[in-house]
Amino acid sequence: MTEEIRSILIQIGEDPARDGLANTPKRVDQALRFLTSGYSMDPDELLNKALFDVAYDEMVIVRDIEMFSLCEHHLLPFFGKCHVGYIPNGRVIGLSKIPRLVDMYARRLQVQERLTMQIAETIESKIHPRGVAVVIEAQHLCMIMRGVEKQHSIAVTSSMLGAFKDNQNTRNEFLNLVRDAK
Ligand SMILES: [Zn+2]
Repeated sequence: MTEEIRSILIQIGEDPARDGLANTPKRVDQALRFLTSGYSMDPDELLNKALFDVAYDEMVIVRDIEMFSLCEHHLLPFFGKCHVGYIPNGRVIGLSKIPRLVDMYARRLQVQERLTMQIAETIESKIHPRGVAVVIEAQHLCMIMRGVEKQHSIAVTSSMLGAFKDNQNTRNEFLNLVRDAK
């Protein structure tokens, strides 16, 4: 993509030959490929070796997962925290795989709503738990930087499946545990 990025530099009025920009097309190319590397990852490959039969049936929560993604409307970052909870039904996911699952979907062009759902639905389909809850709180540079001047606004999205959707106490327990983090 280096030629295309060079061409963008010219279009915005820059001189791609000047010192500071000489290697920029290559660096932007590498950065973009990394930030979208989730396309070449597969949830089965990521999770299949990390699913375990465990007779634990209380809520599992991994909270404050740092999340960085690119909005598909402006190709600008949105970033914040992701909280994931589920109630096992005989199977669990290795804890370290949950942040990696978040990364896998975050490293694609996204809207926050879809990112939230994809994380929840993947956990649901892999281990069929009694319920899944995902909350993402994020700041969008396309809102903050482009003069809307909503510099402190945070977008919150949630996806609640199974027991988290059906049972208000379960949902509240999750939301309280996640809120205590701050
Ligand atoms: Zn945007």
